[in-house]
This record gives sequence, C-alpha cells and structure tokens, in this order.
Amino acid sequence: MSSYKAPLEDLRFALFDVLDVEPLFSRLGFEDANRELVDAVLDEAARFTETVLAPLNGIGDQVGCTYDKATGDVTAPPGFKQAFDQYVESGWIGLTNTPEHGGQGMPSVLGGVLTELVDAANLAWGNFPMLSHGAVVALEEYGEEWQKDVFLKPLVAGTWTGTMCLTEPHCGTDLGLLKTRAELQADGSYSVTGTKIFITAGEHDLVPNIIHLVLAKLPDAPPGAKGISLFVVPKFKVARDGTVGDRNAVRCGAIEHKMGIHGSATCVMNFDGAEGYLVGEPHKGLQAMFVMMNSARLGVGVQGLGLSERAYQNALRYSRERLQSRSLSGPKCPDKPADPIIVHPDVRRMLLAQKALIEGGRLLSLHAYSQLDIAERSQDPAERERANTLLGFLTPISKGCLTEWSIENTYNAVQCFGGHGYIAEHGMEQLARDARITTLYEGTTGIQSLDLIGRKTAASQGAGLKLFLAEVEAFAKQHQDEAALAEFIAPLTAKCAEWGKLTIETLQRAATNPEELGAASTDYMFYSGYVVLAYWWARSVAAANASSRSQAFKDAKRDTARFYFARMLPRTLAHKAAIEAGAASLMALDADHFGD
Ligand SMILES: Cc1cc2nc3c(=O)[nH]c(=O)nc-3n(C[C@H](O)[C@H](O)[C@H](O)COP(=O)(O)OP(=O)(O)OC[C@H]3O[C@@H](n4cnc5c(N)ncnc54)[C@H](O)[C@@H]3O)c2cc1C
Repeated sequence: MSSYKAPLEDLRFALFDVLDVEPLFSRLGFEDANRELVDAVLDEAARFTETVLAPLNGIGDQVGCTYDKATGDVTAPPGFKQAFDQYVESGWIGLTNTPEHGGQGMPSVLGGVLTELVDAANLAWGNFPMLSHGAVVALEEYGEEWQKDVFLKPLVAGTWTGTMCLTEPHCGTDLGLLKTRAELQADGSYSVTGTKIFITAGEHDLVPNIIHLVLAKLPDAPPGAKGISLFVVPKFKVARDGTVGDRNAVRCGAIEHKMGIHGSATCVMNFDGAEGYLVGEPHKGLQAMFVMMNSARLGVGVQGLGLSERAYQNALRYSRERLQSRSLSGPKCPDKPADPIIVHPDVRRMLLAQKALIEGGRLLSLHAYSQLDIAERSQDPAERERANTLLGFLTPISKGCLTEWSIENTYNAVQCFGGHGYIAEHGMEQLARDARITTLYEGTTGIQSLDLIGRKTAASQGAGLKLFLAEVEAFAKQHQDEAALAEFIAPLTAKCAEWGKLTIETLQRAATNPEELGAASTDYMFYSGYVVLAYWWARSVAAANASSRSQAFKDAKRDTARFYFARMLPRTLAHKAAIEAGAASLMALDADHFGD
C-alpha cells in the first residue's frame, strides 16, 4: 500500500507566501477565512484524509463497487459509507457552498486544497462528493426558486448526492448527437427517456437519494448542440414542496469494469419515462451544464495533482531507502553495501521532474481557483470580468496539463520503484492506473486543448493570454533589480514574448486553414502549461527568498526552479516546432493508408 501525508508545508507556502491569500480573502468578504482558521482547516483536512480516506484507497481498488443485477443496486467498497458519513458530519462537503444553502461559505481556493487532499488520499472515494458540487453550482445559477429550495440543502448537507448525465453510447465529446428525450407532462414535469453511460456515482449506497442532472432533447429541439436542455431527475421523486415520493423510473443497468478507480461507481443509467424538471431555459442546457463542467474541470486537474503528490512521496521515500549500485562519482554511503538510488542522476531526473511539476502545478491550480473567488465576490465589475476571463483561460491549461502530467508523474514514480513499482504490493501501479482516467473524463485532453486555443484564445483575440502576460510583466518589473531572480526572469520574459508571437502566428495560419487550430491544439496547451509553470517557479523563488522560511526550504525552491528552467522549460521548444510545422504533415496521409 502506498502511504500519504498531506503536503502542508508546501500548501501553506503556496497559499500564504506566494498567493498571499489572507488579504485577498478579507478583501473579498470571507471574514472568517483568516490565517488561524485556514491553518485549522488544513490541519483537520490533513488528519481526515490521512487517517480515514487514505487507508481505504487499497481496499477500494481491490474490492471495487458491486452491482446487484436483480435490484439494480450498487454497493460502494467497505468503509466508503462510514467515511462519507464522517465527511458529511464534519461539514466538509459544503465547505465552499453559500451559508444560504447550508454551506460554510469558505473560498474556492480552500475547496481546491481540500480536493487535492481528498483525491490524493482516495480518488475513487472523492468522486462521490465531487459531482454534488457541480450539481449545486448549476442549480444555484440556473434552477428555479423551488428547485433551489428543494434540492440545494440536501445536496450541500450531503444527505443526497448529485450526478452529471451527459454521455451516451454513441455520444461522448459531441453532445449534439445525444438521443435522450424529454416530453412535457400535463403537471408541468417532464418524462425523460434514454440511456446514459459512464455516469459517476449514478447509483450507490452512501445516501438515500441521488439527484441526476440530465441532458436531453425536447420534441421541438433544433438539431445539434443548440437543441439540448437540462433536467433534474431524482432517484426518488421529489415534489415541489420537497416531499420525497416513490422510486422514479431510473435504474442502474450495469457498472463498468475498468482500468482504475475501481471504488468509484461508473454506471449505465436507464431513464424510462422518469419524472424530471427543466433547469433553466429550453434548449439552453449546455450553458447550464458548462457551469457544472467548469467547476468539475478544475477539480479533475486537482485529482491529477493529488495522485502525483502521493506517488512522488512514495517514490522519494523509496529512492532514499533502496540501495543499488554505487554513485558514479564514488560511494556516498561507504558503510552500506550500496548507495541509495537517489544518488543516481537518472533517478534524480525522475524525482525532480515530479517535484517541479507538482509544486508548480499546485500554484497554477490554486491561482485559477483564486480567480474563481474574485469572479464571484469582487465588488468591482471590471475586476470580476478580468478574473472570469483569466479563469476561463487557465481552466483548460490546469485540467489538461495537471492530468497529463499526472500520468508522467505516476509513471516516473513507478519507475523509481523498478519492478517493485509494477507489482501490486506497494500500491504504485494503482496510482498510475487511477491517474489514467483524469485525461479522459470532463473533456479529454484534446478537447481541453481545442477549448484553450479556440474558444479561450482565437475567439477572444487572446484576452486571457494578454491578462496572464500582463501579470508576468508586472512581476518581472517588480523584481527586475533582484540579482537572485535574474537567472529566472530573463528566460521567463523571453518565453512570454515567444508565446505571444507563436499565438499570433498560429491564429494567422488558422484564418486561412481551419485545420491549423486543431493541429496546433495539444502542443499549444503543453507549451502554455510549461510557460505558466516557469512563472510560478520564478515567483516561488521570489516568495521563498522574501519569507522567513529556513535556508534549506529556500535552497530547495531555488534548486528545483533551476532544474525546471534548465531541463523542463526546454520542452516548449519541441512543442513550438510541432505547432510551427502546421497541419500539413498531419492531414496529408489518406485515412485509408494508415494501415491495413
Ligand atoms: C470512469 C469514467 C467516468 C465518467 N464519468 C462521467 C460522468 O459522470 N458523466 C458523464 O456524462 N460522462 C462521464 N464519463 C464520460 C467521459 O466524459 C467521456 O468518456 C469523455 O467525454 C469522452 O467521450 P467518449 O469516451 O465518447 O470519447 P469520444 O468522444 O468518442 O472521443 C474519442 C477520441 O477522439 C477525440 N475527439 C473527439 N472529438 C474530437 C474533436 N472534435 N477534436 C479532436 N479530438 C476529438 C477525443 O479527444 C478522444 O481522444 C466518464 C467516463 C469514464 C471512463
């Protein structure tokens, strides 16, 4: 079994030294979220995730969820329900929800921290509460008053959970293809019929009622994505006065057997004339669903981060303990039969790559969450709009990069263990298997990349990029006279100039050939992610130097930043070359000639 300890020191550094959240929280009206309270939240979240959730991670993988064909019931792995009850009793589930609906009204930044800890400890378990949050956000923004009254309190309290039902067998990325239908009934409700697949937490035994948010089409729907509406469909019917009634006509038809997250219920959900209610306007369901997806996308990025952190902690411990061969420059532990593998440059390469991507990635993600808080709470409309634009720009980078890096990180961690990482005993292969889903659900990496280069860059004339570059410029200016930062600021500034130029050139090519955006997209997302991390590493060094932390801490940040700039930022060169190569080499080969 792999072990897990919440990375509290780095989290505190990120929150208080780099992002300086205390004055931000106070300015945004989060009066209670002072240093003392945030420290207490971190300590308690660490205790809960380390002692309650982490020990269930292996059991969840081995036992998985079970499905009863006769009843359609799904049972979560042993211990999951008890852990969920504790989570609910402690109020974690409503940490960031508004007090109006029973939440604790804490900043989204803290929600991001909690998500990291929960998912590092037990990603499969974390999926049960996760989608409730998205359902709450969508209902808060688009639900009718009675829907808010009836559904929000139990979802925020954790006495019910939510789902997000988009995918159908023939319809994944392209939601315009969906076939689920909804017909208006005489009493104002809708009858929803269709099959949804891969529905996370679609059926389980943690709570008595499950609230499905379902995309479906009305009979008069225009074709394609423009004709999609959103419905709320409870497992047990709920009347407008909140009375819970009979079992609704929705049933789990099967659960999937899959590569990882065995403890997460991935359900086929059959809606057979189930009673539901329209959320928001007819045919405008995608708009509402996007609210849900955006919150979930940041969360899935953090899932990747959490898994990376756990894998790294174990790889680091093992690399310090495992004795194999002598250091190339002579024995480092002559009293032992061999040196620990951490002396070998190649093992250090793998460890440092993980450390650099995790600590830098943590800031990328928490910064995005801080924009969510500003977008929701600032008194200044211009600041709100700016934060919204920046958040929109950072979300696909955060989701796309943190999840792709989680595959690299967990594989590097397995590699540090050698063959012992591949066998089940140490739990490392589970982390690698679990990480694999994060690049797929909530929009694949390809779709995040298209979102970044298309909607978030081309369609807005680079509004988000400009805001981010302005932030980097202000930082560079502020620290231009600091000798200790010169080695980072000069290459960062050059990279940012290159990023702007590369963006303009790519968009210009796309103006005459629509395939160019798609051809550049994934390389553009990685390129962007690596430059964003260069900024966070430069800022980390600045913040560490300015802090009262130990010299060892400061040295570690500086040395990791040096590694990042020397050995990881150059990955942008390959991505740039691929982007500049354009679409021609991708599109030339006839689809019939890829193979027999
Ligand atoms: C464990 C698990 C849990 C899930 N949970 C949920 C859930 O709770 N609710 C829910 O609704 N769904 C859920 N999903 C579904 C998930 O969101 C989809 O699998 C995902 O969106 C991709 O859809 P797809 O599998 O149909 O792949 P497809 O859409 O068929 O895509 C296949 C490949 O083609 C690429 N592709 C497709 N279109 C384009 C394009 N236009 N440009 C470039 N590349 C493209 C994709 O990137 C991908 O690589 C879950 C899936 C899994 C496996």
